[in-house]
Amino acid sequence: MTRLGVLGWPVAHSRSPAMHNAALAALGMSGWRYQRLPVPPHLFTETTRGLAGSGFLGANVTIPHKQAALALADQASPAAREIGAANTLTFAPDGTITAENTDAPGLIEALGRSPCGMRALVLGAGGSARAVVWALLGEGAREVSIWNRTHARAQALARELGGRAVVKPEPAELLVNCTSVGLEGPTEPSGVERSATDAGALNQLGMTFDQIGEFADVVDLAYQSQPTSLLVAASAQGARTVDGLEVLVAQGALSFELWTGRSAPREVMAAAARAKDDDTGL
Ligand code: NDP
Repeated sequence: MTRLGVLGWPVAHSRSPAMHNAALAALGMSGWRYQRLPVPPHLFTETTRGLAGSGFLGANVTIPHKQAALALADQASPAAREIGAANTLTFAPDGTITAENTDAPGLIEALGRSPCGMRALVLGAGGSARAVVWALLGEGAREVSIWNRTHARAQALARELGGRAVVKPEPAELLVNCTSVGLEGPTEPSGVERSATDAGALNQLGMTFDQIGEFADVVDLAYQSQPTSLLVAASAQGARTVDGLEVLVAQGALSFELWTGRSAPREVMAAAARAKDDDTGL
């Protein structure tokens, strides 16, 4: 059995096992299995180092381990080093661990068009914002503004990777939400309660419903079973939208290709990631 997995804490709700196991099944790779690997931070290094000897070829890495994953790797791609985080580890038979970051190219793939020459506004300054700012600048975005609740973190990110920290969200062509606002969606999908929750979520992002209409393309990395408040507002005003599951599928497909050397069946992965019944995961 060749093993793959996703390291996180918590990781119970990850859609990656369903997505990758569906891809393995579609390609007839019956000797492969992808599983959840719930590992608390204090056990991360020891557990991850032990995976190579336990039949694991690779692992995705999610909250809160992406920086630790880069730190423990024996070698890393230039992208992972510059971003300062890794979401994909590959284990060689001799135990060598290689780190890669597929979040950055995953965002560009999910966007479906080149951001070259575009003005972009990135909301957030955490791990995913780092990958997004790096990717947009690398693809030739004309200007990348960074807004974050804690302004000092936006300034630090801009100093390190480029872009411009702003004290309030500014108009641009492309908006990418890299904050965790949107994860806690409304329990009722419609009506007055939803409107109030949507307005509250936009408020946390320093924006109003009308301001969202100023963006032609809106990407929200957060994903949940219903569209996030940000994407509801963007769609209502005619923006092109990309949700977090599309980005998840794109980064997962790139990891899958690194490990297996096979072309990832993206449509199969997308259907599995969106399926409510996640019974293919372990
Ligand atoms: P981090 O914890 O590194 O960063 C969280 C960010 O959210 C910070 O900028 C933080 O601001 C901001 N934030 C948190 N709460 C609030 C709030 N109430 N109001 C305003 N801002 C807030 O997380 P990541 O960057 O790793 O992940 C961010 C989001 O992206 C998550 O929802 C995650 O699930 C999603 N994600 C999705 C991926 C995909 O493939 N679809 C891939 C990676 C991430 P502050 O600095 O002020 O605390």
